[in-house]
Amino acid sequence: MSTSDCLFCKIVSGDVPAKIVRETERTVAFRDINPQAPTHVLVIPREHHADAAALAAADPDLLAEVLKEAHGVAADEGIADTGYRLVFNTGPQAGQTVFHVHAHVLGGRGLNWPPG
Ligand code: 5GP
Repeated sequence: MSTSDCLFCKIVSGDVPAKIVRETERTVAFRDINPQAPTHVLVIPREHHADAAALAAADPDLLAEVLKEAHGVAADEGIADTGYRLVFNTGPQAGQTVFHVHAHVLGGRGLNWPPG
């Protein structure tokens, strides 16, 4: 998919609105439109990479920054002490629907294991 067709690239550019909660030069964190928990925030790199595997191969430092920001979101949301879950759905069978890598930050309620 080219970046012009990518929903999350459009959120980065401001063409699609989102509730942004945290930003760095290279990342953006915004609330999921269909939250699955009281806190459900997506952290993405501004640069387009399809999934976590592609980002790990292309720019591991940027993947580390996405993770650092995800933990920052948890701290901002007040869920760092109670616990939270970070998820990278990677590929269609894992439930990935938007092919611009994103970390889900989920918390604020008890989370079951194994996931569905
Ligand atoms: P995936 O299934 O790819 O791991 O996660 C994609 C996530 O993006 C879903 O949780 C979905 O609710 C969220 N999402 C889809 N479209 C939009 C949108 O336009 N805005 C926001 N903020 N989230 C979206």
